[in-house]
Amino acid sequence: MDVFGETRCWMYSIEWQKRGLPHSHKLIWLKEKLHSAQIDDVISADFPNPEADTELSDIVKTSMIHGPCGNFSMNSPCMKDGRCSKKYPRQLIKETQTGDDGYPKYRRRSPEDGGCRAKISFRGKEIEMDNKWVVPYSPLLSKMSHGHINVEYCKSERI
Ligand SMILES: [Zn+2]
Repeated sequence: MDVFGETRCWMYSIEWQKRGLPHSHKLIWLKEKLHSAQIDDVISADFPNPEADTELSDIVKTSMIHGPCGNFSMNSPCMKDGRCSKKYPRQLIKETQTGDDGYPKYRRRSPEDGGCRAKISFRGKEIEMDNKWVVPYSPLLSKMSHGHINVEYCKSERI
């Protein structure tokens, strides 16, 4: 489990949901804190370029898109009082920023910055999504599991 660098320790829990596949939560403590450039190596919130990696592009398209909610679907389960409770669509940013609260803002490139878009089918229609809708993922873990694995980095000064 050294995908993110040397680990201090890790824990996980698996929830057996009423339907679908078991849902696993993992928390991994790293010995070294990651810098924003290193975060980009292991966590991405950008659509992969389908020409460079068709397999990963397909996984992200089928498993790592939030919603769609908001203007696409106001009655999506994440919508609370007319807004997405998971804060999607997220803001497009050119570079990953390590935030003051310990949670980075992942790079989500706009098409002008070389970001890719992906067409997905939603309610029988084809819609085009950009990087505002990508749930952060680890390219390596996604390819290993072929499923939905949301990965996020949190830096804490306390541990
Ligand atoms: Zn939402």
